[in-house]
Amino acid sequence: MFFKHRTESDTIKILRSLNRRTILNETDKQHLLNLQKGFEGEVMFDTLIEKLQCESLILNDLLLKSNNSTFQIVSFMIKEITYLFEIKNYEGDFYYESDNFYTMNGSKIQNPLHQLNRAESLVSQLLHKNGYNNPIESWVVFINPAFTLYQAPKNQPIIYPTQLDYLLKKLSTSSRNLNSRAFDIAKLLSSLHQTDNPYTDLPKYNYEQSKKGFTCKACLSFSIGVNGRKIFCYDCGSEEDIESAVIRSVRELILLFPDKKITTNVVQEWCQVITSQIRITRILKRHFKAIGYGQWTYYV
Ligand SMILES: [Zn+2]
Repeated sequence: MFFKHRTESDTIKILRSLNRRTILNETDKQHLLNLQKGFEGEVMFDTLIEKLQCESLILNDLLLKSNNSTFQIVSFMIKEITYLFEIKNYEGDFYYESDNFYTMNGSKIQNPLHQLNRAESLVSQLLHKNGYNNPIESWVVFINPAFTLYQAPKNQPIIYPTQLDYLLKKLSTSSRNLNSRAFDIAKLLSSLHQTDNPYTDLPKYNYEQSKKGFTCKACLSFSIGVNGRKIFCYDCGSEEDIESAVIRSVRELILLFPDKKITTNVVQEWCQVITSQIRITRILKRHFKAIGYGQWTYYV
């Protein structure tokens, strides 16, 4: 059972939006691709463990603080043993040498085993401080079937793609039902989850230079027309109710520019193509709280 679900991070959403509305440099584009690929791998892992026939509590995407250090946990599973998983969606050929991971052209990449050890040590301290001394079994899981590691170490806590079945079988064996202690630990870790992510590594951007307009829900195109109560995409043909498109776009606007006041004028400029201000105001009133009066009204 998923006690805490996984959602796309704000960093991915913002970078994806900036990739459409501004010109991202190659480093930021690569950062976005890496984050998206990482997220896909994590979702792949969720799909596998979701099918397990055993009682367990799974907490995804935890951001915790221990000993003044902030750390992330991709997947944490509580059953009679507590498991910590670091999921990597690396694809292609890599090699391992003197405790380091390299791509085939010799570039050193961050060692996921170090991330794993750090997270395990910090979460153990955090649990210990709160009166829980559960032993934790930690694994780096390489989820992508097209991943190969040359000179792979034999004595490290790594699950290679060909060993996923073994891991799932191991996890599905369960001798005991969950006790209240398991729920207490899950509640504790969820309550300690930090919502402010210090890892957000974003380029500088501003409202004026961001491209305005609806983007298509399906293909992200800006080629959007209005037909009655719907918008449609000239590129892929998909349709969406104007109301849901406005709300989606306003949420994107708030995510990108949390300090910007949401007024009818701003929303009209941001969405383009809607000629009627009355229509925009009606939609905003239905989904947001209006503050102020007349031309000074804004929405939160
Ligand atoms: Zn489209």
